[in-house]
Order: sequence, then C-alpha cells, then structure tokens
Amino acid sequence: MSSSPSLRPLYNFSDWVIQEIKLNSEIVTVRIRRNRQLTIYCPHCIRKAGENRRVMQTAKDLPLGPIKLVQIIYEAIQGYCNACHRHFTILPPGIDPKAKATKRLMHYVCKLCRFMPTNKVPEFLPISTSTARRWDKRVLTKELPSPDLDNLRVILVDEKSIGPHHYYVTVVINGDNGDVLHLAEGKKKESLEAFFLKLTPEQIANITAVGMDRAGAYKSVVNKHVPNADIVFDKFHLIANYNEALDEVRRAEWKKAEAEDKKFIKGQRYNLFKNPENLKPEQDQSLKDLFEFNEPLFQSYLLKDTLKNLWTYVYPKSASKFLDKWISWAKETCLVPLVKFAKGLDRDRKEILSFIRHRVTSAKIEAFNATISRIVKRACGYQDLEYLFLKIRQAGSPPVLQT
Ligand SMILES: [Zn+2]
Repeated sequence: MSSSPSLRPLYNFSDWVIQEIKLNSEIVTVRIRRNRQLTIYCPHCIRKAGENRRVMQTAKDLPLGPIKLVQIIYEAIQGYCNACHRHFTILPPGIDPKAKATKRLMHYVCKLCRFMPTNKVPEFLPISTSTARRWDKRVLTKELPSPDLDNLRVILVDEKSIGPHHYYVTVVINGDNGDVLHLAEGKKKESLEAFFLKLTPEQIANITAVGMDRAGAYKSVVNKHVPNADIVFDKFHLIANYNEALDEVRRAEWKKAEAEDKKFIKGQRYNLFKNPENLKPEQDQSLKDLFEFNEPLFQSYLLKDTLKNLWTYVYPKSASKFLDKWISWAKETCLVPLVKFAKGLDRDRKEILSFIRHRVTSAKIEAFNATISRIVKRACGYQDLEYLFLKIRQAGSPPVLQT
C-alpha cells in the first residue's frame, strides 16, 4: 500500500481538502474533509449557520485504470439554520447523496447504458444491474430536455405492441421532426387522453392535423380534445388493411381451387403483398401465372396498385372523384372482402382525403419502431415505461417524414 500524491488533482473537490489517498490492487480510498476555516452558510437562505454534527459517508467514484472500486470517504456536515429554521446537509460538490456516488460516475454509467445493455455494466463497474438502471434513469430524468410541446403542428398517434402477450403502448410523435412526445401504457382512450391533458389551450390550438390508424379508440379522443384539428388516416395502415382483404380473397380462392390448381396459389401470399418493383423475376413470373389462371386475385391485385394513386393527388376534389371511382370498381368485383373494404373507405372518406391537405404519413414511424424494439431488448425491458420513454428520447427519435 502506498500513498500517491500525483493522484490528488483527480479528487479536487472545491472547499474540501484531501486527507489521504490509499490504493492497492483492489480499491482506491480517498478521504476528504471540508476546509475547517470556511464558514458554514445555510444553503437555503445563504446566512451563517451552525453545525450540529458530522457523519461519515462513502460515495463510489470513477474507476482508476484496472482498479474498479474507488471510494470517496467524507464527513457530511449536518446543520441547522436559526434564521430560516431549516436543517441542511453539506456534501462535497459533485456527490449525489441519494445514489451514494459521484455525479461523474453516474454520468459515466449513463453513457455506458447508451451503448450496452444495463446487465453488462457490472462487468465494468462494481455496481449491480439495477443500480446501473437506476442511475441511468436519474441522470436522464435530470438532463434530457423535455419534449417541446409549444410548436406542435402535426402529431402522429399510434399503438405499438412492445412485449409478449400483446403488451401495448400508445405513442405520440411530432409529425414534423419525429420527436417522441408521449408514451403511455395501453391503447385505450385514457392512454392518449393523458397526453392532451398535459397541453395548454395554446399548445392545443397549434395542432392542425393528427395522423393515426383508423382502427382503435383514438379518433374520439382527438375529436374531444383537439376539435379543430383534422384527422388523417394513415396511408400505410390503409394499405395494410387492404392487404388483409386481399388475403381473405386468397384464402377463399384456395378453398375453391381444384387440387391440381392449388399449385398456382401456393406460396403467393407474400408476393401478393409486395410492391411490384420489389419482386424478383421468378416471383413476378409466378404471380403472372397465377393471374392468368385466377381472375379474382388478379382484380384484387390490380385494385391495390390503383388504390395507391389516391395519395398522389394534389387537389382534394380530384382525389375525391378518384376515390368514388375506386370504390365502385371494388364493388363491381363482388368479392366480399373488397366490397367491405370499399364501404369502409366510403365511411372514412373525410379522414382519408384530409391527407391531400396535410400530407401526413407515418412512413418513418418504422424507424421509431426499430428504435423502440432495440431499446426494449437491450436496455430496460418494458416494465418501467418512464425509463423506456427516457431511453427512446435519448436515442434521438428518428425523424418522421411528411411526404
Ligand atoms: Zn437558512
């Protein structure tokens, strides 16, 4: 064991003097005490105050080379202020009394947790996984700027399944910059309502459009809390809905097909869902073979391709005319799933056509999905939603495009 004066600059706590630094291969111990010549001031009212007692405390600090455990031992000064009648404790600067650690160590843990799962942190530092998680959360809570709710114009609302057994969260994203604004358990009205209750009337008044999936409970919440905003049903959700209808047609055709004709339908499910430009030549050919043999599937596929044109219109009136045409084409097929889908479009036309005005899509919400699943997997699970929300915000929410 030897004392090493050259380490002193590392433990320079202002107003505190180093009494001793001890180190061996396992541990570094740094003893410090407050400069006794300094007067004690009440931290609340900054008047001179008395000291009651000193209490020995220990705080963990950053590792020193191969030595993982570094401890700062200090006397916390407890006092009472006769002027404002309050108790106080004076600690060395940069020590978090609750965590019993230096803030620089906690920041280091927070940095590690950004790049590795919390359960790997104990391999680098003498703390447990739960401590790493707690400190990470504490630092993020204090230091991450809260979401900017003042300049919202377009917001996107969506539900995400993030855990087993269909564990859902409701997420609200700034449609202009992709900032994640809100994360709440469940996909019920209350999950979204909690977000609007956070906003001031002025902040609500700024919102002109809300993008969402047409299924679910969100529409009525938006109508209630943001009555002046237009609801835009998301294009990609609608196309996904159409794919479900198309799949129903495929299943019905499969049932009807003679045994030897089933080969045309077999293995086509994903080819039918894919965009034509993403098909490999052999997939393209097998779809062509299928369409030659099966008219209903051919019609359903063409209608999907045509439907996408709806979102290319610039003028609401032309888009509305096109939608009417498409609905009648779909109805003419007499294919039950398509007719049902077409009726749904007719019912929701206002929210579908409001896209033309606002051009809101959740195209890049996919990037957010990737972020959230990565974080759930490696950082924190989904039990602590507050922490998950912080981690997502830390990851820097990917921008959500408006096309
Ligand atoms: Zn005081």
